Amino acid sequence: MVVLQTIEEFQKYRKNIDASIGFVPTMGALHEGHMSLVECSKAQNDVTVVSIYVNPTQFLAGEDLERYPRTIEQDLQKCQEYGVDAVFLPSNLYTSDEVGIKAPNIRGYILEGHFRPGHFDGVLQVVMKLLNITQPTRAYFGKKDAQQYLLICQMVENFFMSVEVIGCPTVRHSDGLAKSSRNIYLDANQRQRALSIYKSLHFIEQNITNMQLQMLITKAKEHLQIDSLQYLQITNYALQPIQKYEKNNTLVTIAGFVGPTRLIDNLWI
Ligand code: AMP
Repeated sequence: MVVLQTIEEFQKYRKNIDASIGFVPTMGALHEGHMSLVECSKAQNDVTVVSIYVNPTQFLAGEDLERYPRTIEQDLQKCQEYGVDAVFLPSNLYTSDEVGIKAPNIRGYILEGHFRPGHFDGVLQVVMKLLNITQPTRAYFGKKDAQQYLLICQMVENFFMSVEVIGCPTVRHSDGLAKSSRNIYLDANQRQRALSIYKSLHFIEQNITNMQLQMLITKAKEHLQIDSLQYLQITNYALQPIQKYEKNNTLVTIAGFVGPTRLIDNLWI
């Protein structure tokens, strides 16, 4: 496995590859969720590249950029164990006064985008940069970040980019809690209460065919033991509101705080 720390180094490495490349962008603190994307990439490509970069432009003022977990040594070890071919580890991807990318006015500013305005501008900007540097055949994203995955698909389409975007299912702990780099912020009590996010989603999944959607959301909220709920919404895969369950086109998204930690989860059903 090679570790490439600058854009120039990576581009030199990239020039010599004439095979299919699978690319997994991450912010590090790697867990089995990230590694499932690596496994998917390895199954579909000759070469797998992981990037680790905590992207400052997707954090809003007051969010956890400074304290975001950084575990580079363990991350590199995990990548080695899983057979990653190259890790791209840039220290900075920005210059001053840059051309930006603007998330779509509607889809980029509802749900996550409503509570984190500008977040997706930063996500799309860094993903555009990373895709242009790595020039992969396929790029892998977790459906855990549902809106992020959908907006990246849209950017690739809107800008006629040639990469194939692959969405991978959410990896969970055995009790159902979605794996997340931010779970390490949770103490035992918070971890237990965070599980209620999954329980409410599970309740929705069990009852979606036999209950009116507004009633279902009201009932699902009763399962929550988190400190504050930002949203619990049911849309279709285009993020438009729906009145009735549509098989394989229904997305349930939730976000809220447990203590100071913001968690998100979702169901694609
Ligand atoms: P992050 O390091 O949080 O930016 O995540 C990097 C990639 O891993 C994103 O595409 C995430 O959606 C994906 N990811 C994070 N957690 C999970 C999970 N539990 N299951 C599947 N993919 C995940």
